[in-house]
Amino acid sequence: MIRFTCPCGKSLSARDEYAGETTRCPDCILYSQFKLDEPWDGPNNSKLISQMPKFYALPNDPAMSSGSTYYRVFVGNGSAFDWCKGVALRDFKDGMSNTILVAEASTAVPWTKPDELDFDPNGSLPALGGHFSGGAVVGLADGAVRQFPQSINSQTLKAAITRSASDVLGPDW
Ligand SMILES: [Zn+2]
Repeated sequence: MIRFTCPCGKSLSARDEYAGETTRCPDCILYSQFKLDEPWDGPNNSKLISQMPKFYALPNDPAMSSGSTYYRVFVGNGSAFDWCKGVALRDFKDGMSNTILVAEASTAVPWTKPDELDFDPNGSLPALGGHFSGGAVVGLADGAVRQFPQSINSQTLKAAITRSASDVLGPDW
């Protein structure tokens, strides 16, 4: 068995008979097939929708073959992502462990489509969860995963979506 490292840093292994050949990990091979100057649904890129990596799917999601994901991010108005510029770690002043990075939305979108959850602090929130008992699953900016019930106070949820609003999460978090 040969052990080698993909240029992306991932450790891989291959049978001895492949010695001397060049390859990359499956994720990098998929990435290299995207034409970055073409829209997500262009003639080349739309062919890759059906190749969604497993980690975009809900556990045991039979709809995975459709290439759609429920895992989406909040964007804009002080949430973890901005529309026009990158966000640095130092911009998470409410604390990484108090800020949602990715959420299980109620509706799925093609995994390659830039179709995120537009965060409006004064409006109603998009529907989350609905696939697991115990509520919606979110990934926090510190890498932790947690679940909260649908009954959660919307102020608490908004406080968890903002990264630097100096707001305190309610006792129902
Ligand atoms: Zn790689």
